[in-house]
Amino acid sequence: MKKYMSILFITILLAGCGSIATQYRKDGRHLTNKGFNYLDKEPRLNKTIILKNLEIHIVGDRKHFDIEKYKNPKAEGYKKGVIGYAYRRKDGTNVIYIRGTMKNDKIILDLSNLGHEMGHILRFHERHVLDPHSYDDWGV
Ligand SMILES: [Zn+2]
Repeated sequence: MKKYMSILFITILLAGCGSIATQYRKDGRHLTNKGFNYLDKEPRLNKTIILKNLEIHIVGDRKHFDIEKYKNPKAEGYKKGVIGYAYRRKDGTNVIYIRGTMKNDKIILDLSNLGHEMGHILRFHERHVLDPHSYDDWGV
């Protein structure tokens, strides 16, 4: 009986973690949309940005980052808790590193992380795209 209670407890615990993650993701998306709806509309906006070379790395640990300052625990970027980054290689390849995890052989993306880093890539190609780090300054 004790064994079954432990299994039940662990099952409830794991299910609970999943639902918390789901709820936070849904809340985050909902709040982002809600905030965006407060911005002035611009119906004339119809911009297309075509990316020819895009390389996205989805990693479960910062040890897979290719930039030393973000995977080195003694470096400032690591201390700041960088969870992803984007840059453009000299050959023109757009590179994104985001965090992810796995569940039942499916890769789970940190969608917020992906959106932020994609914002950097789009800005590399179109200077009118606002830098994702400037949104607070612009009140958006
Ligand atoms: Zn950024």
